[in-house]
Amino acid sequence: MNSAMHQPIAPAPDWSRVRADFPLLERTVYGKPLAYLDNANTSQKPDCVIESVAQFFRERNANISRAVHALSEEATNLYEGARSALARFVNVQSAQELVLTSGATMATNLVAYSFLLPRLKPGDRVLVTTMEHHANIVPWQLVCERVGATVVAAPINQRGELILEQFIEMLTPEVKFAAVTHVSNVLGTINPVAEIARECRRRDIPLLVDGSQAVPHMPVDVPAIGCDFYVFTGHKMCGPTGTGVLWARRKWLEAMPPFFGGGDMIREVRIESSTFADPPQRFEAGTPNIAGFVGLGEAVRYLTELGMDRISAHEQELLVYAEERLREVPGLRIIGESPHKAAVISFLVEGAHAHDLATLLDLEGVAVRSGHHCAHPLMQFYGVPATCRASLAFYNRYEDVDQLVVALHKACKLLG
Ligand code: PLP
Repeated sequence: MNSAMHQPIAPAPDWSRVRADFPLLERTVYGKPLAYLDNANTSQKPDCVIESVAQFFRERNANISRAVHALSEEATNLYEGARSALARFVNVQSAQELVLTSGATMATNLVAYSFLLPRLKPGDRVLVTTMEHHANIVPWQLVCERVGATVVAAPINQRGELILEQFIEMLTPEVKFAAVTHVSNVLGTINPVAEIARECRRRDIPLLVDGSQAVPHMPVDVPAIGCDFYVFTGHKMCGPTGTGVLWARRKWLEAMPPFFGGGDMIREVRIESSTFADPPQRFEAGTPNIAGFVGLGEAVRYLTELGMDRISAHEQELLVYAEERLREVPGLRIIGESPHKAAVISFLVEGAHAHDLATLLDLEGVAVRSGHHCAHPLMQFYGVPATCRASLAFYNRYEDVDQLVVALHKACKLLG
């Protein structure tokens, strides 16, 4: 745990006041108060983040690292300040080990093409799990297909937990890389990533952990996990869209060739060939989402002030309440019943299609996601085309859950 960064602040946050930081939550949908329960998809943004982006454009807008004028220097400092804040947030000592990307998807693709592809040979395997988001499956498939390697998945049980013994058994000499989600975006399951990392290290298998659903909801100490790569995405943690992070061990970053070419990632360019900047700039070609990272830096400050341990504890309380209340709904089945889970609740209601249900909930002001959640292999495992998913954040109220349950009762009557 990153105890220094995530030390609780006193007094405990008044969560109803915290909610007031999020202007969008005041709006209505179809004349009903909004119960926003689609946080695993994207989070809402507090005023301070919105204001930091607006202020950047109003007062500081300039490109970074390309001019000596004051505005450019201020913009560069803000951008690099965000990198440092993000590093501290996940307890990484050197901000230079963080590559700023457009999201977790881009971060994963960067590892696939720059790190893995040059190392893969025909017959090699990449080990993932059945519960991965497509962003942690498809990039590996694309590079595997180029060389005749394959992606294989370790199984899960009916509760939606990784069967760790089988994952370990599958770490055979053919496996050249492993990629596992920290927290499932469908099941909420929190995977034992430190244990997984230990087993991978024993066999010299580099491991990527997808922290997209973990970093917004719990304290994360990346070095303590012991993986080789850790990716996460800014828009699920109160930051702007188009922002994300790749952390990689320095030795890997230094060994990785560029993935994108262009401005800002070079040392010297000749028409015949070029030499490249050190990491992380080597991987940040072109003008980045400067304003987005200014906003994400502010989001990190905001979350740190609330305390990630407090956020996690509060969301766990909401989760217990929500699961208890949802079980009152006749015919409702929760998919993902690990005792060790984040506040993500996928569910099905007997006789109702997930999309119909989500549409009726929407009419009652309740925003949930329905569909495959970019996790086809998981849907296949459960033998369903889609689920409904209510995903909570610290700014949700018990009343949001009540609104969901009342709306579900009403929807079930209509569909039944
Ligand atoms: N990994 C997980 C577990 C996710 O839930 C998501 C987004 O839903 C992603 C990766 C991809 O994130 P992004 O679309 O921001 O790149």
